[in-house]
Amino acid sequence: MGTRREVLGIGAGVAALGLAPGLAGQSHASTRKIGYAVVGLGYYATRQIMPNFAGCEHSRLVALVSGTPAKLEQYGAQYGIPASHRYSYDQFDTIRDNPDIDAVYIVLPNSLHAEYSIRAAQAGKHVLCEKPMATSVAECQAMIAASRKAGKKLMIGYRSRFEPYNRLAIELARGGHVGPTRLVTAEHGFPIKPDQWRLDKALSGGGSMMDIGIYSLNAARYLTGEEPAEVSAVESTDRSDPRFRTVEDRVSFVLRFPSGIQANCISSYSSAHNGYRVIGTQGWIALEPATPYTGQAMTIRKDNVTTPRTLPEPARNQFVGQLDHLAECVLTGATPIVPGEEGLADMRLIEAIYRSAAERRHVELKA
Ligand code: NAD
Repeated sequence: MGTRREVLGIGAGVAALGLAPGLAGQSHASTRKIGYAVVGLGYYATRQIMPNFAGCEHSRLVALVSGTPAKLEQYGAQYGIPASHRYSYDQFDTIRDNPDIDAVYIVLPNSLHAEYSIRAAQAGKHVLCEKPMATSVAECQAMIAASRKAGKKLMIGYRSRFEPYNRLAIELARGGHVGPTRLVTAEHGFPIKPDQWRLDKALSGGGSMMDIGIYSLNAARYLTGEEPAEVSAVESTDRSDPRFRTVEDRVSFVLRFPSGIQANCISSYSSAHNGYRVIGTQGWIALEPATPYTGQAMTIRKDNVTTPRTLPEPARNQFVGQLDHLAECVLTGATPIVPGEEGLADMRLIEAIYRSAAERRHVELKA
């Protein structure tokens, strides 16, 4: 993983895929835009994802799926989606008859991810599914099996992998810029507002870990390029707080990696932080904040000198990069850098973290 050359949806478009020069323009694949149906017209879909199709080179919004006719009407009109390409959940399976839809982007509450991803694959569509991939390892495995059986791609919405500062942090950390990595610290949390599906375990699958702690977990894995061998976790939840009747609040977890790297991570629904630090023998690389929609800030301390590191504005933001990455994979046959297996790896660890916290013991993971 550490040395694998990644196929990235950032910057140079199809050229970044290493295609032979001249393919663009000759191939119908290089000019065709992959058509997406967005499923679930909530906050993230309508505010972050849908507006970014405008910046895509290889992706376009062609269909909408929602349980609310007024939303289909409003967003259909706004994005020029004809009535024939607007679906209720009851009509979802008929997307199979719409050749304009190549891929489905699932932006529903977590407990619905597996069902709609599997139905999309069965309808012959590629799937981009939001994080967390699902609410259990078993669901993740069923999603991977369904996409494989259909011969379609499955990608998880780990947008930070398409964000330039996170990409630079990976390069610097794995390249030993501040010496070999010894420790990673990663913290993600926000004070959650009451009365929403994220606080209902039946819909969310869990609390802060599923929603925001997953960024700490995923970062620890992508910064090291390793899979943890051991997990240890402690949870603190005030069950008298009405927000936390069914889901957890704070979790501190430690991951021990095979090389000896240790990651100390925080997940929280009651404190405000977002960042990580890679600490090596010669200093550290800090990204704080690390995973917001915009505004990443990097600082590097090496040999006792602290320097901010700034990057130019990217040609494509992380949302565009993510959408176009799946499209490029569909067009070229490549495997996404964040396939279903990546979501499954995180879900295995989240289950191990929950087990460790509940049983108050270390959990060893099989290789
Ligand atoms: P949201 O509540 O704003 O939207 C969810 C949508 O699902 C709503 O339109 C709702 O009507 C619809 N829905 C369909 N069936 C439902 C049901 N049975 N119960 C409740 N709602 C139902 O949530 P959101 O913030 O848009 O999150 C949606 C997904 O996107 C989640 O999986 C979340 O983790 C993910 N997300 C990812 C990011 C990111 O940065 N990658 C950011 C926000 C959300």
